[in-house]
Amino acid sequence: MNNKKLVVIATGNAGKIKEFSHGMGTDLYDFRILQEVGFNEEIIENGTSFAANAEIKARAVASWLAARGLSAMILADDSGLEVEALGGAPGIYTARYAGVHGDDRKNYEKLLNELDGELNRRARFVCALCVIENNGEPRIFEGECRGTIGFAPVGAKGFGYDPVFIPEGYSRTFAEMELSEKKSMSHRGNAIKKMMVEIG
Ligand code: IMP
Repeated sequence: MNNKKLVVIATGNAGKIKEFSHGMGTDLYDFRILQEVGFNEEIIENGTSFAANAEIKARAVASWLAARGLSAMILADDSGLEVEALGGAPGIYTARYAGVHGDDRKNYEKLLNELDGELNRRARFVCALCVIENNGEPRIFEGECRGTIGFAPVGAKGFGYDPVFIPEGYSRTFAEMELSEKKSMSHRGNAIKKMMVEIG
């Protein structure tokens, strides 16, 4: 019999299962993404912070499951990049900074243009993770990864802004690192670690 706790990740991105199973282990948890539990509704993420958007996603999935008499631990994360010289932009607009949702190259090219001539390249990735367990109150855990924005894209691994993000203490971009190395310091990994201290 499978005694593992069912964990529904509020995402359509199957790649996130890997990140969560890496951080939480698979001995106790059985991870599913939304399509796998039959959730196909659009969630409007109109919050004004990463935490608010993560909570909107978690609550939407929690009420959908509750309406069907199902119970699970729900995890929702929202993340993005904050650049100091741009007053925290792109922030919650990280995924659609250049207007087209998910166009990684246009997004980081726009960022490099915005920072043209700027010497303060400090930035951080932020991840807000919202957990709802047993239909209780949502709990938020935030992780960050500090670094700088390079002057040109370097590296071909990873996704999103990885080719232009150089984590603190390194001279390589995320896109030059193996996934295991990046994960050891990533904002999402750090948020998961904080959560595991509380729930693990
Ligand atoms: P999401 O909330 O995980 O979907 O992330 C929002 C956006 O932030 C993504 O579309 C990426 O552009 C960017 N992003 C989040 N995490 C990373 C990362 O680890 N590397 C590069 N870009 C990221």
